[in-house]
Amino acid sequence: MRILVTGGAGFIGSHLIDRLMAAGNDVICLDNFYTGHKRNILKWMGNPYFEVIRHDITEPIRLEVDQIYHLACPASPIHYQYNPVKTIKTNVMGTLNMLGLAKRVKARFFLASTSEVYGDPEVHPQPEEYRGNVNPIGPRSCYDEGKRVAETLSFDYKIQNNVEIRVARIFNTYGPRMLENDGRVVSNFIVQALKGESLTVYGDGSQTRSFCYVSDLVEGFIRLMNGEHTGPINLGNPGEYTILQLAQAVQQMVNPDAEIIFKPLPQDDPRRRQPDITKARTFLGWEPTIPLADGLKLTIEDFRDRLTQS
Ligand code: NAD
Ligand code: UDP
Ligand code: UDP
Repeated sequence: MRILVTGGAGFIGSHLIDRLMAAGNDVICLDNFYTGHKRNILKWMGNPYFEVIRHDITEPIRLEVDQIYHLACPASPIHYQYNPVKTIKTNVMGTLNMLGLAKRVKARFFLASTSEVYGDPEVHPQPEEYRGNVNPIGPRSCYDEGKRVAETLSFDYKIQNNVEIRVARIFNTYGPRMLENDGRVVSNFIVQALKGESLTVYGDGSQTRSFCYVSDLVEGFIRLMNGEHTGPINLGNPGEYTILQLAQAVQQMVNPDAEIIFKPLPQDDPRRRQPDITKARTFLGWEPTIPLADGLKLTIEDFRDRLTQS
């Protein structure tokens, strides 16, 4: 099969490409390299079944493919808030272009949506039926509302144009290849601990997140894409931790002497987040298999290698 992965040079996209290439597919990686890197896909360069195109998805493009995994969009708050209008364009115009492409070539279209569509949730854990509590005009809105429109567009292309769609709502995911300066909590704590710096907990650290290891997530993508269920479907690890617990776990594993310090909580920071994965279990036979301690160990090793090389 010929498969397009937008955002394929990024963290999750490059792990997905590894899986798709190993399964013998023909893969096209489309990326503008805003937060993605060639080193993430280096091992496939020169392979006749792999192609990389430097392109910004806010501009139209014509390609012939059978499936589209649409991941292009910066995912970390510091990167998506750097140019919020661009983030909206990527989610709205970019998704529109990829849906237009899917319609023209009759490709199945997979949208990497997010738990952020639930905003700061009043329902816990979050099932797919929950409609969310998103601030339309806050610092996170460009991303949250952008993804909500991307979901709407996907369903409207399905209804109006019979495009086959699959929508995944991804919860916090971590693993090797996250950027050192990514700004997300797992990479921040690991990099800080490895460098002997203080671990920066925002607020009092009582807010919660549920962390999914990247290989588990990619397995969920493949099952959703190739199954019969349209979604939206939550993909994440239901194991819920406070941010302070995460800081203490990283501290224990990397550097027990590292200090934990507290910084102001960013505006609109969701208080808690945990996926209800009943649907993924029922429709995809999927659930995460890598416990946080194991996933953190693998991620720490990757950062240690990279930091000692640089
Ligand atoms: P990432 O920043 O590593 O990857 C995003 C990729 O998209 C990068 O390679 C970037 O260069 C590319 N990109 C951004 N804007 C583009 C544009 N206009 N045109 C072409 N390419 C563009 O992030 P990630 O963590 O790998 O996330 C991938 C997808 O999964 C995103 O859509 C994100 O919203 C979604 N997601 C991620 C998480 C998570 O915890 N990592 C959680 C929920 C949803
Ligand atoms: N599009 C694209 N590649 C294609 C087909 C369409 O980039 O192979 C873009 C097209 O330029 C348009 C968007 O996708 O901006 C939506 O296309 P659609 O055909 O649905 O709408 P229309 O072009 O009729 O507005
Ligand atoms: N966070 C933190 N210290 C950091 C980075 C993030 O305490 O150095 C907190 C952040 O305020 C949030 C949680 O960790 O409550 C997860 O943040 P992240 O940016 O990783 O993801 P998101 O908020 O998008 O879920």
